[in-house]
Amino acid sequence: MQEDFMKQQVIVVGGGASGLTAAIIAARSGASVTIMEHTSKPGKKLLSTGNGKCNLTNLSMPEGAYRSGQPEFAEKVLKSFTVENTLKFFQDIGIVLTDRNGYVYPNSGQASTVLEALLFELKHLGVSIVTECKVEKIKPDLTVITAKGKKKADAVILAAGSMAAPKTGSDGSGYALAKELGHHIIPPLPALVQLRCQEKWYKQAAGVRTEALVTLKTDGKAIAWDRGELQFTDYGISGIPVFQISRFAARALQDGKQVTAELDLFPAVDFTKTQQMLIERRKRFGYRPASEYLNGVINQKLIPILLQEAGIKSGNAEQITPAQIKNLTAALKGLKTVITATNSYEQAQVCSGGIDTREVNAKTMESKNINGLYLAGEILDVDAICGGYNLQWAWASGVLAGKHAGRGKA
Ligand SMILES: Cc1cc2nc3c(=O)[nH]c(=O)nc-3n(C[C@H](O)[C@H](O)[C@H](O)COP(=O)(O)OP(=O)(O)OC[C@H]3O[C@@H](n4cnc5c(N)ncnc54)[C@H](O)[C@@H]3O)c2cc1C
Repeated sequence: MQEDFMKQQVIVVGGGASGLTAAIIAARSGASVTIMEHTSKPGKKLLSTGNGKCNLTNLSMPEGAYRSGQPEFAEKVLKSFTVENTLKFFQDIGIVLTDRNGYVYPNSGQASTVLEALLFELKHLGVSIVTECKVEKIKPDLTVITAKGKKKADAVILAAGSMAAPKTGSDGSGYALAKELGHHIIPPLPALVQLRCQEKWYKQAAGVRTEALVTLKTDGKAIAWDRGELQFTDYGISGIPVFQISRFAARALQDGKQVTAELDLFPAVDFTKTQQMLIERRKRFGYRPASEYLNGVINQKLIPILLQEAGIKSGNAEQITPAQIKNLTAALKGLKTVITATNSYEQAQVCSGGIDTREVNAKTMESKNINGLYLAGEILDVDAICGGYNLQWAWASGVLAGKHAGRGKA
């Protein structure tokens, strides 16, 4: 048996999804591995994923799912540890998986079981997990300094996450550690987050959930769109389609651009047919008050907002003019809203931005600045759409970092 002091000494900074995976793979490669985690327990964020059910990957990989200054970097890494590899990895540590329209979850429906499986495997491999251990500095010679003391390693895997959901432990301190080692950080911003809007009518619309196509525009030009269940809140918009486009809104706002969105609240039918329908309804229901004219077409809370946008005030539906019908169609097919801000990091699921991937070797996850320093997970400038893609990134980058950091000295 190899003596412990002969083994490659690996320190993993951060016990989140990517750090735990990296530690398993490094230990399986024969290294002696220590995870340093500054909260009281590893894997806190993992517990809140997928509404506590952990959507751990996705069987479909749409183009544009991963966003980064260098999307080809993410692509290379994801090719080295594919979705099939993820399925096998979790099955091998005892997780039975279930596929819901391509979204993969543990069959238990409990994120806690995924975390426990990872922890069982780490224990089985003899990995040491030191909690309440904040890494304060990593020296270029790979000495890791914490309040508890210092330890020199042969390889360090920095997997300290981003600034999203800081209550789970990712407080952004990882960026400072990387910066001190000469890495450049693309300024992090909240992503997969709700958008705050200017209009006063949100107070009236709050609570409505409806199918919609949300198109994000900067300076009048469409830059991102997504369709799904839109949620109106008293301050703006939420729901999956909003999350998917939010990182572009955050960056455009940061750049001082004018950011708006158009909400197509009748996305299944095109403009002409929608207008035709409204003309027909005026013929059939002309006797109804204008306020009842859209009854059954759209959520009732939205009707006064749409009528106001179209300039329809009172009277019966038969008094609605052709110009107002056109305006109403335009409002239904593209209700305009001005985006003023995103919600904060507390509400964001991930961050866009992070360590510039041009400074990292995509084959090994090793830093190009510091030999023996490896980077994994959300700390890097890679973020993805909702649906299991961010965890797939954490597993893939963690496995690659663990594999190369854990390689023996021989
Ligand atoms: C509410 C919510 C739901 C989500 N749901 C999903 C989902 O269903 N599917 C999906 O794919 N993605 C989901 N995500 C995103 C996913 O959880 C993250 O992308 C992923 O956990 C990132 O993993 P990571 O290891 O890079 O970072 P983290 O999981 O954040 O881990 C980083 C760890 O490092 C520790 N740390 C930080 N700084 C230091 C330091 N200086 N010293 C020591 N330790 C430190 C932190 O305490 C933390 O434990 C969700 C996120 C949130 C917030």
